[in-house]
Amino acid sequence: MSPTRAHRRDLAVHAAAKEGLLDPDETPLAAFVDLTGVRESARALLAAWPAGLHVRHAFAAKANNLVPVLRLLREEGLDCEVASPGELAQALAAGFEPTGIVLDSPVKTRKELAAALALGVAVNIDNFEELTRVDELQAARPSTSRLGVRLNPQVGTGAIEAMSTAGLTSKFGVPLADPGNRARLLEAFAFRPWLRWVHVHVGSQGCPLELMASGVAAAVAFADEVNRNRPGQIEGIDVGGGLPVDFTGDGDGLTFADHVAALRAAAPSLFDGRYRIITEFGRSLLAKNGFLASRVEYTKSAGGRAIALTHAGAQVATRSVFAPEAWPLRILAYDRDGRPSDAAPVLQDIAGPCCFAGDLLARGRELPRLTAGDLVVVPDTGAYYFTTHFAYNSLPAPPVYGFQPGDDGTVSFTLLRPAEELPESSPGTVPTVR
Ligand SMILES: *Cc1c(COP(=O)(O)O)cnc(C)c1O
Repeated sequence: MSPTRAHRRDLAVHAAAKEGLLDPDETPLAAFVDLTGVRESARALLAAWPAGLHVRHAFAAKANNLVPVLRLLREEGLDCEVASPGELAQALAAGFEPTGIVLDSPVKTRKELAAALALGVAVNIDNFEELTRVDELQAARPSTSRLGVRLNPQVGTGAIEAMSTAGLTSKFGVPLADPGNRARLLEAFAFRPWLRWVHVHVGSQGCPLELMASGVAAAVAFADEVNRNRPGQIEGIDVGGGLPVDFTGDGDGLTFADHVAALRAAAPSLFDGRYRIITEFGRSLLAKNGFLASRVEYTKSAGGRAIALTHAGAQVATRSVFAPEAWPLRILAYDRDGRPSDAAPVLQDIAGPCCFAGDLLARGRELPRLTAGDLVVVPDTGAYYFTTHFAYNSLPAPPVYGFQPGDDGTVSFTLLRPAEELPESSPGTVPTVR
């Protein structure tokens, strides 16, 4: 039997410690991507959708923008969703065809839009002003891009306000239920035969499946309405991403099949073949396939609380440090050789290296007592953590290794991103301020 994800992680931590990838002086902090797990997740997504439907799955690059990871997902048959010129460049570097890239962002400049339309990248238009801009570009030179409009179905918010994009006053998309908007948008489609898609993304983490599905149902109802007057104008629905991840354990949590079942219940006509479909998952493909590992530099006790001082803090786990209730992370204790620790458990704070008191990855967590040189591992950080570095204290982004256990239990590592060089200040290039 092939090893489970948790077993692969244990193998990788031990091998990384043995091979010096977590050298106490050189790289006390490193990140790891389970390449076997990434492939398994991509295949689970592909398998969850019924054969025969025209479905493409665009990975949301903001979840993990490492070009080798994007390339791996492309090789597994995925497309790519990007939300900035930087992510677009990364997707192209990973070898995605422009027709396999979807550009979503609420704030595209005229130049970015023109470049995307010239390349043939699919674009979801966010608002009426952007639509006017696209009109101008289309008049100058009609694009082959798939063009759609992002709807805000205003179906409500999930557990994390900051991640919810379908509230009444969300900044994303055209709010469909606002007075006059539905008619205005129907008219916009009537005058623009090149508008062929609708897009909806209800939120990211914390949104129940039923809420996500009700947003998609609203998009399908709108598309049906357009097509009643102009049969076939809307050819596809981009249903967004947002499948929540279970951060409490090594189980699978909600699956892509659960998502398909929820959509089938809320919007059955999505499955009768009348529309092409695009999905845009990020977190659910990558979160569980990555972890951070840090040496414990020191331990101390303060006011009766045991504290382990590590190198993993707000620079690699920004959301968890600043909004710990919304983004709890597990912490796993390993000894200095990378074996799961068997020390007696004690309540501990796991602190990071940033110079502010709140830089804690975990507070009062019962864990095997850590000592200097031990390793702490932070699982489920393959999406939106070490790939969205926060440059506080000029702390460098850690190296990222891909890993794959072989049949004999040995683990092979591939460098996916080198450690960031410390910022240099060679006097010749530094501006002088008077
Ligand atoms: C962030 C985002 C996604 C991905 O969300 P996940 O929660 O990572 O699946 C998909 N589509 C859009 C438009 C997004 O902004």
